[in-house]
Order: sequence, then structure tokens, then C-alpha cells
Amino acid sequence: MFIATLLALAALGGYAALCALQPFVRCRKCAGEGERERFGKARTCSRCRGRGQHLRRGRRLHNAAQRTHHAGSR
Ligand SMILES: [Zn+2]
Repeated sequence: MFIATLLALAALGGYAALCALQPFVRCRKCAGEGERERFGKARTCSRCRGRGQHLRRGRRLHNAAQRTHHAGSR
């Protein structure tokens, strides 16, 4: 039980570090291409809007938390 908690904490810490060091990840939907082929036509990827990469979910959370904190500490 203790080891499981330790592992979970380590994973969380590793993910947080990843979010801080590498906030952008390659879009999985279009594999970083920015557009996808659909019905024979190339269309801009809706997930990354053609950028081919997007912010990590953890980083978005971090940004949102920081905004809330900033708004609350004024
Ligand atoms: Zn994409």
C-alpha cells in the first residue's frame, strides 16, 4: 500500500516535471501533421487547429490554477 502511494506520487511528480519542461506535445490525432485526410480531402486538424501540437492537459490545468491564484491574490 505504501509503495503504491509512493509510485503514484513519483508518477505525478514526473508528469508535473514533464509539463513544466515540455508543455507542448505532438498532436496524436494528426501525428503532428496539422491536417488530416478525410474522405480523400486534407482538412485542418480540429484538435490542434493545424499547429500539429497542443498543450498538455496538465499544463492547461497548471495555467488555469495560476490564473485562479492570480485573480484571487489581488
Ligand atoms: Zn492535430
